[in-house]
Amino acid sequence: MNCEPTRTPHNVDLDALRQRYARERDKRRRPEGERQYVEVSDDFSDFYEVDPYSPPIERKPIAEDIDVAILGGGFAGLLTAARMKEAGIDNIRVIEMAGDFGGTWYWNRYPGVQCDIESYCYVPLLEEVGYLTTHRYSYGAEIFEQCQRIGRHFGLYEKALFGTIARSLIWDASINRWRVTTNRGDNLRARFLVMASGPYNRPKLPGIPGINDFKGHSFHTSRWDYDYTGGCTTGGLHKLADKRVAIIGTGATAVQVVPFLGKYSKHLYVLQRTPSTIDNRGNRTTDLDWAKTLAQGWQAERQKSFHIATFEQLYPGMPDLVCDGWTEINRNLQARIAGLGNPKLSMEEYMALREREDYQVMERLRERIDSIVKDKETAEKLKPYYRFLCKRPCFNDDYLPTFNRPNVTLIDVSSSQGVERINENGFVAGGVQYDVDCIVYASGFEITTEMKRRIGIERVEGRDGRSLYDHWADGFMTLHGFMTHGFPNQLWTGFIQGGVSVNVTVMYDNQARHMAYIVKEALDRGAQTVEPTEEAQAAWVKTMRETEVSNEAFLRECTPGYYNGEGGKVIRSHLGEVYGPGFYAFKELMEAWRNTGKMEGLVLGT
Ligand code: NDP
Repeated sequence: MNCEPTRTPHNVDLDALRQRYARERDKRRRPEGERQYVEVSDDFSDFYEVDPYSPPIERKPIAEDIDVAILGGGFAGLLTAARMKEAGIDNIRVIEMAGDFGGTWYWNRYPGVQCDIESYCYVPLLEEVGYLTTHRYSYGAEIFEQCQRIGRHFGLYEKALFGTIARSLIWDASINRWRVTTNRGDNLRARFLVMASGPYNRPKLPGIPGINDFKGHSFHTSRWDYDYTGGCTTGGLHKLADKRVAIIGTGATAVQVVPFLGKYSKHLYVLQRTPSTIDNRGNRTTDLDWAKTLAQGWQAERQKSFHIATFEQLYPGMPDLVCDGWTEINRNLQARIAGLGNPKLSMEEYMALREREDYQVMERLRERIDSIVKDKETAEKLKPYYRFLCKRPCFNDDYLPTFNRPNVTLIDVSSSQGVERINENGFVAGGVQYDVDCIVYASGFEITTEMKRRIGIERVEGRDGRSLYDHWADGFMTLHGFMTHGFPNQLWTGFIQGGVSVNVTVMYDNQARHMAYIVKEALDRGAQTVEPTEEAQAAWVKTMRETEVSNEAFLRECTPGYYNGEGGKVIRSHLGEVYGPGFYAFKELMEAWRNTGKMEGLVLGT
């Protein structure tokens, strides 16, 4: 398919918009930053630990020695377990609080749940398990099924401890193993420990005074209460017909939920602090003729194209295989530079052109709202004033039209930096009391809050009882983002200190392969412990600093959110520390490291 640049308005006033963006950002900044959010504990512990989708699992506590304990059965844990099994490491356990594999795709079953990233890129191991997604953008149920399929394909079900939450992780040097305790009274002694709980593991609640006082019904989107609403992920929420419902939050989750709540509730209040960008979805079923043309390795090729076109740079002549809203800015930029005769540009010149494309795309998205939302005042409130990728972009064909419904009210709470108050009967916004029957919290997850909060395990202790939370209090120190000195045999997935892709499944798979290699080598060589030397770790941290491509200036201009540590004094990217040369450069670096067979930088103890 020929992928053309999009048409965007050229008459944008960059200076005026820069000022507007700054005003909108400042209006929303809260001094408490990430500490504004309320944890799902105490009054709200049911929002996290109660599983509405599976009956409680009864089993006796387990005490056993294993080679690898993997914490988490979402894509990070599943892919790790799969690659371990593939490497011949069979004595493993996957510890998962849910009643099945799936992680975020197990828990998030709200109406309309869908992945915004093209399924051919996002849904992993399509070729390996012999499945092709039915739609270009998959719905949640299909992704959850792929998790189960991976579980079956690699024989992981017999390795899983479902309904199980790790409570403490303590290195015991006397046996060279991690002692893992759980809510089930288990006592596992694991030679290796893989941290794979993922970024969307713990829901968080908005910091609204009086949040504990509401006497009506409430739940978080990641624990959707179909007993209360009726229906299922595709609709039919008939029990809401006589209910006044408020949804707090307008991020990627709310954008998918709102059309359903609008359709079925007696009245819906959408409480918006910051509008999301909403582009068209244009989903379609998979073209089977296209599928027949796919040659072996097609998925990896497409994933690479998506990553580069979204987060790196489309150099002259590079194809944009995915060609959707994620890749629009780079695609347009590539065409603009081609129009200039592909001159050699300095970084400043390139970034200036990129900024202009960004502003034009955002202007296109604002104009799009005017063409869909009939009420002018509502349309104005829905317009996002920040740069693309300051927040997660959204794509949905039903969200904006929902605001044309007479039973849907948009309430802008940006001036009060969020909803003013919740009380027994509902909420207060703009000094007005609104009584509601139900509050739905679409308030996101503990993605970048303090590590202890987000991991949710009280004790994680390495050598000599050192707490991991103290160890990393001043920043990550790792070898390649996988291991840290003082915490033998502990391996990390996710956004720590390495190559990053927001198409997270690709990142997890690369991490899984690397960890499987380390564990396999250690076991084959009879090593009891594997740990980075302090020197190797320091050298990696130095490499990270030296190669860093800082996006701090970009994030500082952004409206607050988890992408920039809520816009506080210290700007922290939700992507952790990113290896500057890029995700695929990091992949090659790790492959080269493995190919030497030297386990360089790691000490293997016997
Ligand atoms: P987000 O963290 O993105 O959104 C939380 C929402 O709650 C924001 O709109 C936020 O406003 C609002 N909020 C927080 N505090 C208050 C307050 N005090 N008063 C009023 N509003 C408040 O969570 P989501 O669950 O929407 O999404 C989380 C992530 O999950 C996404 O960014 C994405 O990565 C992933 N996701 C992916 C999907 C996919 O298609 N792949 C679909 C859904 C989610 P503000 O913006 O002002 O902070």
